[in-house]
Amino acid sequence: MNWLNGIQADIRRKEPLALHTSFHIGGPAELFVQPRDVRALQRFLARCVRRRIPVRVIGAGSNILVGDRGVKGAVICLSAPAFGRIRRNRGGLSVGAGLRLNRLIGYCMPRGLSGAEYLAGIPGTIGGAVKTNAGVAVKHDRRVSNHWIGDLVESLTIMDYNGAIKRLRRPDLRFGYRCSCLPAGIILAVSLRLSARTPGAIRRTVAELMSRRSRTQAAHQPSAGCVFKNPPQQGAGALIDRCGLKGARCGDACVSPLHANFIVNLGQARAVDVLALMRRARAAVKKKFHLALEPEIHIWE
Ligand SMILES: Cc1cc2nc3c(=O)[nH]c(=O)nc-3n(C[C@H](O)[C@H](O)[C@H](O)COP(=O)(O)OP(=O)(O)OC[C@H]3O[C@@H](n4cnc5c(N)ncnc54)[C@H](O)[C@@H]3O)c2cc1C
Repeated sequence: MNWLNGIQADIRRKEPLALHTSFHIGGPAELFVQPRDVRALQRFLARCVRRRIPVRVIGAGSNILVGDRGVKGAVICLSAPAFGRIRRNRGGLSVGAGLRLNRLIGYCMPRGLSGAEYLAGIPGTIGGAVKTNAGVAVKHDRRVSNHWIGDLVESLTIMDYNGAIKRLRRPDLRFGYRCSCLPAGIILAVSLRLSARTPGAIRRTVAELMSRRSRTQAAHQPSAGCVFKNPPQQGAGALIDRCGLKGARCGDACVSPLHANFIVNLGQARAVDVLALMRRARAAVKKKFHLALEPEIHIWE
């Protein structure tokens, strides 16, 4: 492919996205591109613009269901070291979008930097987490507090699909439940505002959250986490459970018997199986509770 000559990137054709999603499901990307640095990403995007090639970005692929026929165009993955750096700044950290959340927590814990520990066990990257405003609700003394990554974001750097880089500051940013209102583009780096806490207290929070996950989630089976968003004041999992769907199957896709808002891949599940199970759960909840469940996972077809 001559048009890609000179671009510093690992570029693969017809790369199965099943290899890059936590569901282990998904057909090929026409091009799977891991640029070496920001400059290489800019050069690649410029050529895509010229050729009208559609571009998407994937993080750890832990919140995406990719269709069995794959996707057209290029899928960009910021897995190169240049996109995974951490730097201290005033009041917090500047973190590359490709960094995994567990690495961030591992950096913060011994330094007594608090805020990110609530993301323990979420298998994403910083970029994916900010885009989806990942987080958890923690119950303490019958009170529930939400810990979303959006609350920690002080500013971020984003590249649009023409290669132009923009810095967005706190007043320009808006986050909601599992969503962010960001312009189209690729998040490159994020500044996080963190507070001080003892390493021991951070460690205890991480241990509590990890233990809760292992009791309540099918973390050892391929999935994309919660499939549906929770409707106001309700848990989507509890609603699906009350429809009797725990353990329901379509091919190798199965509603987790542990957590009904997780669909797990028992081995050879295809995207069509997951989608069929999602339709079934949605229809059952609609019929019984008159509530329309909205997907939390991002569906790429
Ligand atoms: C076992 C399990 C447990 C989970 N638990 C939770 C949980 O408790 N709370 C929670 O919120 N989520 C949870 N998730 C879902 C998921 O891990 C999070 O949404 C995570 O933050 C997604 O990050 P990612 O890097 O995998 O993003 P991906 O899945 O790769 O992408 C998600 C979206 O973000 C976009 N994106 C990715 N990187 C960038 C970037 N650099 N710039 C712009 N857009 C980008 C993608 O295009 C896509 O639209 C869980 C998933 C699993 C498998």
